[in-house]
Amino acid sequence: MSRYSPSREMRVIGRIGVPKAPAWMEDAACLRVGHEKFFGPASDEGDETEEEKEAREDRARETCDGCPVRAQCKQYATGFSNGLQVGVWHGGNDDQRKLDHRKELRRAAEKRRRERQAS
Ligand code: SF4
Repeated sequence: MSRYSPSREMRVIGRIGVPKAPAWMEDAACLRVGHEKFFGPASDEGDETEEEKEAREDRARETCDGCPVRAQCKQYATGFSNGLQVGVWHGGNDDQRKLDHRKELRRAAEKRRRERQAS
């Protein structure tokens, strides 16, 4: 039996501070599959071990692999403050987003450096 519960999902979304949902989320493969595999157990359900987290994130990535809005999801997730938002988005976890965020900062700095040199 699915553990999906709209009221529980709203608590999760409220906890992580996701802004108003954009229209593309209507097509998200994760929309009706139960978000605990993307965000982990609720705080009142106890912590998960690192192995449990990896297994859960692998299951989330399987959903992301077939998602028709993965590109929009990645663009959305990289716009999170510092790229650190929790959970699996676009098949990537928070560690991967940190790396992506650092790469983006380096690219932007390199672009500014080239623009200064050219002017
Ligand atoms: S890529 Fe993954 S997290 Fe993003 S909308 Fe699709 S299923 Fe959900």
